Amino acid sequence: MQFDDLYKEIIQDHYRQPRNRQSLTSEELGAVLDNPSCGDRVALRIEWDDEKKISSIHFDGEGCSISMASASMMTELLWGKTREEARETALKIHRIFRGEDPLEDLEPFGDIVSLQGLVQYPVRLKCATLAWQTLDLLLKEETS
Ligand code: ZN
Repeated sequence: MQFDDLYKEIIQDHYRQPRNRQSLTSEELGAVLDNPSCGDRVALRIEWDDEKKISSIHFDGEGCSISMASASMMTELLWGKTREEARETALKIHRIFRGEDPLEDLEPFGDIVSLQGLVQYPVRLKCATLAWQTLDLLLKEETS
């Protein structure tokens, strides 16, 4: 199997069986963002424990396979991280997807490595980074 096919399989798997996806009521939404160019929407809810670590993270939303798979991968990765770790991870992911850091740096980030082919497609990249932008918004709102 070629890498491209393997990556497509991983993305499809997250799309068909999203991790940490939950129907969120409007009171539960920590942050929600749209990607108008594709019609994607990602909503996020994070709960923190006493040590300021993520004790639960769920997403809701609708959209293309890339946007939903990316949100699923993100929630899987962030479970248990501190606020600072979550923020640093988001910054790093944004840098890699903007081409400022090498793609190899995606390796520690689990299934997210499967999204690396999208770097060549700016329109699809918006789908892939929507969940991360929603996280940025949520972290910003919670600290302000
Ligand atoms: Zn999309």
